[in-house]
Amino acid sequence: MILRRQVLTGALALTVLPRFARAETPLFTLHGGLEQGSLVTGHTAPDATLSLDDSPLSLSPDGAFAFGIAYDRTAPLRLVARLGHGRSEERAISPVPRVYQTQSITGLPQAYVTPPPDILARIRAEAAAVAEARKRDTPGTGFQSVFQWPVAGTVSGVFGSRRILNGTPMAPHMGVDIAAPEGTPIHAAADGAVSLIQAEYLGGHVTLIDHGQGVSTVYLHQQDILVRSNEKVAQGQMIGRVGQTGRATGPHLHWGLNWFQMRLDPSRSTASAEPAPS
Ligand SMILES: [Zn+2]
Repeated sequence: MILRRQVLTGALALTVLPRFARAETPLFTLHGGLEQGSLVTGHTAPDATLSLDDSPLSLSPDGAFAFGIAYDRTAPLRLVARLGHGRSEERAISPVPRVYQTQSITGLPQAYVTPPPDILARIRAEAAAVAEARKRDTPGTGFQSVFQWPVAGTVSGVFGSRRILNGTPMAPHMGVDIAAPEGTPIHAAADGAVSLIQAEYLGGHVTLIDHGQGVSTVYLHQQDILVRSNEKVAQGQMIGRVGQTGRATGPHLHWGLNWFQMRLDPSRSTASAEPAPS
């Protein structure tokens, strides 16, 4: 029976194939995986207009675009491309589900898990400055490249894991931790411009780099920052050194990826699953 059904399906496929073969060239192409928490990039005609879930999506001059799939998104995303003369194409993108780990960390000073009330206003102001910088929608093109791991070391924390700090359940971990000795060079993951540097209570010495179209990467807990605000950086350029400033139990880089206010998994935008060892 199974064989027969396969044959039947094959025959059906043959009868419908010519219709697909006559279809016009697709209006857009997508690159990268479509897993939850992934940055997706794509290309379309430079004169097309794009929308994602009914919100406009900006295009670079060569027709490149980017968007994120939220880490917990299950409903399909609706991407629509339209050309001036009325041709349009729509695609429903179903997020590929992921299973996230649980990670328990102990030994943190309790003031970093339940900050004292007088620190909360500072934490809120620092988060607001980051949120403001992440609103940038610039025509930079760095987002189109395959990202470089920013530091040589060992992954000690993965994206999306449910965090239990000193026994208290916290928000999921929205980045990748790379453990490396203090002072290890940190390199920009892609071309971009520094959109924010600040010394934070939780993040320590933080650098945010804008790669265009709302895509940014962030580098936390640095020993020191070697770039200035608004400075242009090239992929691979040294931008800082690994430290343990802010909420950290040892020297490591917390590396994050954002599409506007959405936090994504930077390890899904690199060529290799792990960084080179330190
Ligand atoms: Zn982290």
